[in-house]
Amino acid sequence: MHDNNLPLSNFIRDIILKDHVSGKYGGRVRTRFPPEPNGYLHVGHAKSIVLNFGLAKEFRGECNLRFDDTNPIKEETEYVQSIIEDIKWLGGDFGDRIFYASDYFSQLYLWAIELINKDKAYVCDLSSDQVRETRGTPTQPGHDSPFRDRSVEENLGLFERMKNGEFPDGARTLRAKIDMRSPNLNLRDPVIYRILHAEHHRTGNQWCIYPMYDWAHGESDSIEGITHSICTLEFEDHRPLYDWFLEQLGIFHPQQIEFDRLNLTYTVLSKRKLLRLVEQGIVEGWDDPRMPTISGMRRRGYSPEGLRNFARSLGVSKTNGITEFEKLEYYIREDLNKAAKRVMAVLRPLKLVLTNYPEGQVEFVEAINNPEDASAGTRPLPFSRELWIEQEDFLDVPPKGYHRLYPGNEVRLRYGYIIKCQNVVKDPATGEILEIQCTYDPDTRSGQRTRKVKATIHWVSAVHAIPVEVRLYDKLFTTENPNNVPGDGDFTMYLNPKSLEVVQARAEASLASARPCDRYQFERLGYFCADRCSAAGRLVFNRTVELRDTWAKLQKKI
Ligand code: ATP
Ligand code: MG
Repeated sequence: MHDNNLPLSNFIRDIILKDHVSGKYGGRVRTRFPPEPNGYLHVGHAKSIVLNFGLAKEFRGECNLRFDDTNPIKEETEYVQSIIEDIKWLGGDFGDRIFYASDYFSQLYLWAIELINKDKAYVCDLSSDQVRETRGTPTQPGHDSPFRDRSVEENLGLFERMKNGEFPDGARTLRAKIDMRSPNLNLRDPVIYRILHAEHHRTGNQWCIYPMYDWAHGESDSIEGITHSICTLEFEDHRPLYDWFLEQLGIFHPQQIEFDRLNLTYTVLSKRKLLRLVEQGIVEGWDDPRMPTISGMRRRGYSPEGLRNFARSLGVSKTNGITEFEKLEYYIREDLNKAAKRVMAVLRPLKLVLTNYPEGQVEFVEAINNPEDASAGTRPLPFSRELWIEQEDFLDVPPKGYHRLYPGNEVRLRYGYIIKCQNVVKDPATGEILEIQCTYDPDTRSGQRTRKVKATIHWVSAVHAIPVEVRLYDKLFTTENPNNVPGDGDFTMYLNPKSLEVVQARAEASLASARPCDRYQFERLGYFCADRCSAAGRLVFNRTVELRDTWAKLQKKI
């Protein structure tokens, strides 16, 4: 395992290092993270954030946060706010370097006029369907638009009238004049402006023409003096177009470098799909703890360190792959293991009575707060005659190899005594187990030299325990690749109906002071985190991740 503070070596870092040493951009390094504010950030974005902010930090440069807000229809201020909050939480430091592509609308407009003046752009009256039909295919060249040879004057006049709102949506576009026969489809006279009478979240009704993403993106990078414009592989084929724009305009030329998107098993990472889950009420909202969003993961109890370590572990490559969800959980668990306070809680309580323990007596046993951190100390836990234990820690008829409680068997109570199961009380009508009766051995208190038994179980004292609601989350999808749907199916056909189970648990009283986002390990059960709605009257915990390392198992199989 690598040292988390050391930069990971990768091909992008190598390029930047080389440019840094050669003084290509005066030794300057400036990256950017450019989300479109059309949804909440997800774990794929975390990979890009860690990469861009990490490289800027390593080379003492800067990383800009830039909202690529060129589509007024899908973008909202709520998304802008959530994105800012999520990046800060992840540790991305953009200071006051927040920018918006919409701040450049005037400049982009002037540059479009420059292209027209150079006879490198024209107003086209074809509909979007016609543009698509005349575009050709990867194996067939496209056809020139009948409007391609308009004069500069006519184009200038029409473009201005487009801007002035004289034409309805979709009536005309401004297209770059490149090459309808280029083997690269992106160079076949791409649309750079469209008419859209829509209110923008920042510029209001100032504009009724909007720049296309491809036109705005490279120029925004240039305006901000970005040295290394790092993006995902699907933009590789767009690079020649960005280069063409920058060359025509003769402006500062950032270097674009592409890397592989993160894909995770059992997960969808497309904002369009995530939006559907939210809009159809399949999840509670963007921050539902089952969502692969950064806000969902935060609410679920993931730590920023854990997420960052995961993102760093991914490295970067030139081919898209799929990463196991279990790997993400491994890094989350690894980080929580160091920091989370241990407590005892019983998810599915079963009453256990120690028949030889004096009624009304209470003694305190000493429990370790964190075995990974001696400075965390210990706490006293009340022990008494009636306890709650986990239902699954008792079996009336045990299978071979079961070492927990069953009639006649002994187990140790964590931090407490060795107990022996003497009797099971059942509901005579239903056969339901109501209570387990045991005896305890007073000479076996934990910490003393005593005999050994095969199993240790957790418990809480019934009179002292507090009720807590616990939400047990499981994967949102039942298949490894919910994006791969046969026929006219839809990714929602793979939703896991058991992705959430709510139980009424009992926990040690110290949990009463848990504040939203506080993280714990419930001994033997997993890591849990107080939900944002958790309060004194109603304590609610989310299961973050179980204790078992399922990734290690997967690794062995390979
Ligand atoms: P989605 O397909 O989820 O809507 P997007 O690429 O449209 O994602 P943007 O808001 O445009 O989302 O992304 C902002 C930045 O994050 C871009 O630089 C993009 O390349 C990067 N990014 C998005 N998804 C991933 C991912 N799965 N892995 C790595 N980087 C990603
Ligand atoms: Mg996008």
